[in-house]
Amino acid sequence: MKKRVIIVGAGAGGLEVAKRLSRADLEVILIDKNNHHLFQPLLFHVAAAVLSPGDIAAPVRSILSKHKNIRVVMGEVVRFDAPGKQVKLSDGSSYAYDYLVIATGIKTCYYGNDCWEEYAPGLKTLPDALLIREKILVSMEKAEIAADKKHAEDLMTFVVVGGGPTGVETAGALAELVRSSISRDFRRLDTSKIRIILIEALERILGGFDPGLSTKATRQLEKLGVEVMLGAKITRIDENGIWLGERFIGTSNVIWAAGTMAPAELATLDAGAHVSGRVYVKHDCSIENYPEVFVIGDAGIYIQDGQPLPQLAPVAVQQAGYVSRVIRRDIEPARRPEFKYKDKGNVAVVGRGRAVMQIGRFKITGFPAWLAWVVVHVIVMVGFRNKLKVMGEWIWHFLGNRHGVRLIIGYFNKGKKPDSDPC
Ligand SMILES: Cc1cc2nc3c(=O)[nH]c(=O)nc-3n(C[C@H](O)[C@H](O)[C@H](O)COP(=O)(O)OP(=O)(O)OC[C@H]3O[C@@H](n4cnc5c(N)ncnc54)[C@H](O)[C@@H]3O)c2cc1C
Repeated sequence: MKKRVIIVGAGAGGLEVAKRLSRADLEVILIDKNNHHLFQPLLFHVAAAVLSPGDIAAPVRSILSKHKNIRVVMGEVVRFDAPGKQVKLSDGSSYAYDYLVIATGIKTCYYGNDCWEEYAPGLKTLPDALLIREKILVSMEKAEIAADKKHAEDLMTFVVVGGGPTGVETAGALAELVRSSISRDFRRLDTSKIRIILIEALERILGGFDPGLSTKATRQLEKLGVEVMLGAKITRIDENGIWLGERFIGTSNVIWAAGTMAPAELATLDAGAHVSGRVYVKHDCSIENYPEVFVIGDAGIYIQDGQPLPQLAPVAVQQAGYVSRVIRRDIEPARRPEFKYKDKGNVAVVGRGRAVMQIGRFKITGFPAWLAWVVVHVIVMVGFRNKLKVMGEWIWHFLGNRHGVRLIIGYFNKGKKPDSDPC
């Protein structure tokens, strides 16, 4: 009988494992709670009305339809039973495995303030991006007709919390959307009152980059009209705005890009977990006591040269390559080589035509970094149609700073209801 491999998560890591096992003499089952693979690095462009959801996502079934040994299951895993070698789904079904690859990624974390989610959505999924887009567009419409000046100003104040790559990219894209693109279409708005604020608790943004690049990114954001507040900690968020200790900023638009944690079901693995719920993995990406269970990508913590690897797509993809080789060759635990991540660099976009990029000691800024970002992202995107579509949209956006997807579709009202306790 063929060995069965279960992969949980069809994101960057899980999908790569499935593709690499597509010709192996194995039965592969890929389980994801969504029916689509999402290219997360471009989520901020959906939130900023540059791209449509379909441009950065594709149905998992169609991506894998040619591979006969792979079965796709849409379902949510709620329990990993490592001793019993099976996974359990929310509909009560369970699947046994010989090998298990967990690639569930991470989710937004509010550090114990879950009630903030209602006012400050994170940016991890397509519904998140659509919710943010809708909130921004609705705010501008409301500001146009607001009778009260102070209320209009609050509606035109946008706060992004977290100065990592996601926060920086979102703040830059937001500035271009509301300052130059949308505002020229409104007649009654006092656009001089628009504020975009990026809040970072540490003393510099882009903490994972060289300090010189952090400074350059800060200058680039300021050129776009973003106020960068460093060393500032949020103490409260509600429907009126945010508090930084005694200081209050009135706003109805807060975007949370400040923290992540592993999904709760990972705790059922009972493997050495970090405080964030992410699981420590061994030199072969497997977990303690269970050499047939691998955790790859954002959900795992792999220590290399004394440091945890960053939560980046290339880490997930390279681990996927390594793990699929181990599984294909059925390498016994004692003979598995050590996984070694090869740093492919890091880049953060700061608006149209601007970026900062670091590959080892090599640094690039401005237009060349942005161009490199465009090329790399188009290459690694899944699906030829998506690549073409995104290229076209970017050229259109670059030439005219036009945001073609400024659609209010009632998503905000009908959209997700955060299941959190009231503040
Ligand atoms: C806004 C944003 C911007 C980013 N920008 C960059 C960038 O520019 N460059 C870069 O390298 N990286 C970037 N990243 C990080 C990168 O996207 C991740 O490192 C990468 O996607 C991690 O891959 P993964 O396979 O671990 O998880 P993911 O790609 O997150 O996939 C996880 C999958 O698991 C599924 N899942 C979760 N729980 C369950 C469950 N219980 N049952 C079934 N299915 C489940 C999810 O639906 C999802 O499909 C960005 C991330 C975000 C959110």
